[in-house]
Amino acid sequence: MTSVPGTGARRIRVRVEGLVQGVGFRPFVCGLAGAHGLSGFVGNDPGGVFIEAEGEPPMLDAFTAGLTGQAPPLALVERVSVEPAEPRGETGFHIVPSRRAGVTIGLHDLAGGEFALVSADVGTCDACLGEVRDPADRRHGYAFANCTDCGPRFTIVSGVPYDRCATTMADFAMCAACAREYRDPLDRRFHAQPVCCPACGPALRALDADGGPVPGDPVEVAARWLEEGRVLAVKGLGGYHLAVLAAHGPAVAALRARKRRESRPFAVMARDAAAAGELVLLEPAAERLLTGVRRPIVLAPRRPGAPVADGVAPGGRDLGVMLPYTPLHHLLADRLAAPYVLTSGNLSDEPIAHRDEDALRRLRGVADGFLVHDRRIQVPADDSLVRVFRGRELVVRRSRGYAPAPVGVPWPFPRPVLACGAQLKSTFCVARGTRAFLSQHIGDLENYETLRSFTEGVEHFCRLFGVRPAVVAHDLHPEYLSTSYALDREGVDLVGVQHHHAHIASCLAEHGHAGPVIGVAFDGLGLGDDGTLWGGELLVADLLSYRRAGHLEPVPMPGGAAAVRQPWRMAAAWLDRVHGDASPVLPVVAGHREQWPMIVAMARAGTNSPPTSSAGRLFDAVAALAGVRDTISYEGQAAAELEARVDPAERGAYPAGLVEGERVVIAGGDLVRGVVEDVMGGVDVGRVAARFHRGLAAVVVRAVCAVGERAGLRTVALSGGVFQNTVLLEAVVSGLERERFEVLVHSRVPPGDGGIALGQAVVAAAHDRLSR
Ligand SMILES: [Zn+2]
Ligand SMILES: [Zn+2]
Repeated sequence: MTSVPGTGARRIRVRVEGLVQGVGFRPFVCGLAGAHGLSGFVGNDPGGVFIEAEGEPPMLDAFTAGLTGQAPPLALVERVSVEPAEPRGETGFHIVPSRRAGVTIGLHDLAGGEFALVSADVGTCDACLGEVRDPADRRHGYAFANCTDCGPRFTIVSGVPYDRCATTMADFAMCAACAREYRDPLDRRFHAQPVCCPACGPALRALDADGGPVPGDPVEVAARWLEEGRVLAVKGLGGYHLAVLAAHGPAVAALRARKRRESRPFAVMARDAAAAGELVLLEPAAERLLTGVRRPIVLAPRRPGAPVADGVAPGGRDLGVMLPYTPLHHLLADRLAAPYVLTSGNLSDEPIAHRDEDALRRLRGVADGFLVHDRRIQVPADDSLVRVFRGRELVVRRSRGYAPAPVGVPWPFPRPVLACGAQLKSTFCVARGTRAFLSQHIGDLENYETLRSFTEGVEHFCRLFGVRPAVVAHDLHPEYLSTSYALDREGVDLVGVQHHHAHIASCLAEHGHAGPVIGVAFDGLGLGDDGTLWGGELLVADLLSYRRAGHLEPVPMPGGAAAVRQPWRMAAAWLDRVHGDASPVLPVVAGHREQWPMIVAMARAGTNSPPTSSAGRLFDAVAALAGVRDTISYEGQAAAELEARVDPAERGAYPAGLVEGERVVIAGGDLVRGVVEDVMGGVDVGRVAARFHRGLAAVVVRAVCAVGERAGLRTVALSGGVFQNTVLLEAVVSGLERERFEVLVHSRVPPGDGGIALGQAVVAAAHDRLSR
């Protein structure tokens, strides 16, 4: 460092990288510099935060240490780099305007590969909520209050760096009072980009079913509608929701009918943790997740007698609850003083509606009234969904509050990667450097709306994070829309990644473990490298490659896709496999008496009956045989309901064998035999469900032991949507731990197909490393 003659002052140039924009970082730097008597400036650029600071050397040292050590709670400082500069002898420390891409900045040129991180949306903080509830405050009752600690981020960001002009708040000019707060280093809203108030910011409106304005206080109008049992559309943070009072049976039934969603559970918003605790049993970890800044839907066991209509979550033992995450949701919850259903505003299988005209059009006839506002939603994001496994978070749907926080991986991506994910519960992933940005949940890529959401999302992420994909990874399934999208990209290197390899790789990536491991990938269906449908796989895998070391006994899937929607067809295939012509007439057989012989004949002849080793289809078959469910209206429904029926007191397990040849094959038929015998014997369904789960877990553990012995491996990675089932997960993990395996399970990345893109990205990078 150089000194100004006679003063001893030195000057440094600092770069801070990580999640440092939209989290109050620049105000924090101002405060820290002031505390150490430093002069200089701080600003945002597309690579993060740049700082120049001047003062006494010990103070500069303390200042740089504090950048990491005392950073604001929402910040994630990944790297601080310091280099000396020429002292200038200036006075004061201030925030300077942001620097944009294309400008040479600080130490490095942007071409050097830097980029800033964009914060996920953050639930309303206590200070802002206090103001909203304070009749004397100028933001009393204001639905859009926010500050540097909370508020919209990802869903309003249109570009980087994170500044008001690159958000949908650019539509609103700050009033003098808000501008004063924005400029005051001592204010909580110092440089809070979405700062606003009733005088200058977005405003609420109530609209009737035809979109016509309704006079009166919009929250009051909306609350009254809900109390009258009407279906309300509410424009939230990441899209439109549909709301009804959770205890209002007819309203819940009307919502279900109009949404054409027969039985998928609805989530419920409760006013606070105490109110949520009246609906569900909250273990400490669940309460922490519920009240945390990400504000996901938390799945927890429903309390007997919870004041929620039966139609809210039929067939389930758990109920999804969440707490308000914007002042708007707080205002509605405070006014109603009763929990309300809040479910994404779409018809089944469409993405969440987020553009105003589109939402009004799509939700006309579904909603009886609208509570809307005039702040645009830039990026749609559904509510995230989590469970708790062994006191830790298990993310099932990763979306609002989580995306686009990167997943850090210890292996740098040699070239930028785009991974296109799978088909159902689609997400994509863009990656470069050591960061992988897994997108928010997009939905099932089965219609134009979702595909558009997917392609727009890819473009937006590439722009935000400065990724120009050189490598594009995709599933092997040629009919996935994500695969066609990948194959249409020009001038890139394509890498096809087997579905279950991608599952295991996503688990490895989450743990920073390079493998090899024994990967247990249990899910619905994924195309295998032999052209058959896999889904109950034991792979010996690392990031680069895998070997199919074992699998579940394959059975025909009579009618292909029809068998997915009609689990009774899988019951027919399995029952015939086990008992053939001597199959007993279980209730499910009687219930489908007319079609049963034809389906059995189809399975035997292999007509339109592709063989599958899917664990998900085995769950389907057992759910149907046990009389839990024989047709479904959403993916995974039969398995979820079977899990919900498990009697936790039951200690029995169906025995099942292994066939050890070239591969280790799990004799699923043994489990089916046990189920059939018990159903014939009138054993309670809760015990049947428990014995099946415990029997499957035990045979999986034995299969892992057999594979582990052959391969000389002691680490297991569990992935695939079936491992969202925490009953099975607990039984498998504890069984493996008894056998002294190290077990890797998902936490922040979904085990289901929502995590696939991350696995594809790291596999593609491993191939890229090899080929260069
Ligand atoms: Zn706040
Ligand atoms: Zn204002």
